[in-house]
Amino acid sequence: MISPAVLPITKTCNVGMSTVPPLSALGLLRAQNAQNISLPRRIGWVRETIRTLDDAVSLSQGRVFVTRWARGTVFAQLPGVFGTRQQALDDLTWCEAHSAAAPHLGWMREVYFQRAHLKHEVEHDDAGAAKYLAQSGYPDFNMKELLTTPFSSDEQTGHTFAPQKISEVLPGRIYALSGFEFTEYYFIVSKDRSQLIGIDAGTRPDAAKTAFEALSAAYPGLPPLKTILVTHAHWDHVGGVHYFRQLPSAPRVYARSNYAEELSHSLRAPQSHPLFFGQRFTLDDIRDFHPDVVVDRPTDITLGGTTIRLLPIDGGETPDGLFIYLPDESTLFAGDFVMPYFGAPFVNEGNVDGLIAAVAQVAALAPQHIYSGHAPLTRIFHDVATLQQTAKQIGWLRDEIVKMIGVGADRATIHARNLIPPDLAETPLAQLPLLLMRENLIDRLYAQHTGYWGAGLQGMDSLSDDQLGVALRRYLHLSDRQVADAIRQMLAQGDLDLATRYATQAASQYPDSAAVAEIHRTVLSQQRQKYQEFDPFRFIIYSEAMGSRVPAIHTPGSHSTN
Ligand SMILES: [Zn+2]
Repeated sequence: MISPAVLPITKTCNVGMSTVPPLSALGLLRAQNAQNISLPRRIGWVRETIRTLDDAVSLSQGRVFVTRWARGTVFAQLPGVFGTRQQALDDLTWCEAHSAAAPHLGWMREVYFQRAHLKHEVEHDDAGAAKYLAQSGYPDFNMKELLTTPFSSDEQTGHTFAPQKISEVLPGRIYALSGFEFTEYYFIVSKDRSQLIGIDAGTRPDAAKTAFEALSAAYPGLPPLKTILVTHAHWDHVGGVHYFRQLPSAPRVYARSNYAEELSHSLRAPQSHPLFFGQRFTLDDIRDFHPDVVVDRPTDITLGGTTIRLLPIDGGETPDGLFIYLPDESTLFAGDFVMPYFGAPFVNEGNVDGLIAAVAQVAALAPQHIYSGHAPLTRIFHDVATLQQTAKQIGWLRDEIVKMIGVGADRATIHARNLIPPDLAETPLAQLPLLLMRENLIDRLYAQHTGYWGAGLQGMDSLSDDQLGVALRRYLHLSDRQVADAIRQMLAQGDLDLATRYATQAASQYPDSAAVAEIHRTVLSQQRQKYQEFDPFRFIIYSEAMGSRVPAIHTPGSHSTN
């Protein structure tokens, strides 16, 4: 019999649906719904689900990662009576051998976890189970969420966007360091191999040290670090500079001439979300940032025989953006100019027109390789065509949003309009970026175009969630169970944001209620799962609200040439 414990999937299925072939997605949804099926019908339901997952694999000749992943992870959780465990083992082993075919390495999290589960339950190999469990990052088998995310969150060291990895993106010349902290590090060996040139300085000195020492250990004999080029003066791109400063090679640091303007923005921003940079981060790490060389116009420099073009840009994240372009390598280090939040969401910054203008600058350079400050940005905005199609549609969206703001529409009305560019089909490469950016674009433009009072009565009161929650108990006389039930119904209807709002209020009003605590956690967990593939900042904040870290996964062999 299938119990919820065997199918630990009160989980909603929000895992990169656009990339899951439809049959596999259907199979996953069916599996996750199994516990809602009445007992007499459940066996038939599961057998039909098995057929669906089998069909998905055979129609794709067993060569599509997500179909093998879906079948392997579901089959591994079915009771032995269904006879699916050998197939699960085959699929999961295949996924391990073909991790490069995964949408990204975050999908390996569940593969390792289910391998550990099979080792433990079926093979009674506890040493093997422990090895796989360590790779999955999970401390034990008590995991109720389905996470395919590449992200991890830790109180001490903050958020990472990708599993730890050092890639030789241009063999012997350019190294990319992912997953050591919030921000990517890049190091370039100059043409005459006399010096190493760093792009950006990371978030914290301890992270910079770990990353740089890992690079030196993986590739011994690299030349000394003589130069660091800073793409913009945000916390996470200059915070580690003190580590590099004390190296014997004493690198010279280049940044935009207006870096201090951006730095003062960063220093004034509320420091209310420790899971971003970790508790080890301190503003002291950025407060005294001073470059040795400042750039205020397009400037060509030559370092160790390597020509580097430094190109100031105005947008779209900070006014002190600097493109770093290597013409001979046709490689652009773009920083965060195309960050989907249009600047940090906590700071009054971001420049939509600047972003569009910067895309035109990229198009003029026509680089073959574009590397951004964070792994997902590099993955998504990896070519000029994607940037151009995205910029075109962002321009259309900007005009529509500004028009609506102008006639007094409030933020909720603009979101509800579901603005879709009429010629979106002609710019297919813009579809995923708009999914990531549209809601943030509305919020950023709304904040930039309005004051502290909005349409109707918006902004007139100053009631917090705690104060609004008073109505539940004191005036509506609802018990904690009634409130928890109502929130559960909101979830069942798909009203996730509404459920989150009320769960937050209820948590303040019924602090001792187990029912409210449980539904509150469920709501936050569903938000985290919903955003795990495409909105890292929401993922971080919901994880913070849950008080629940997400451990990094460890993929075997973290050095690669690609
Ligand atoms: Zn950044």
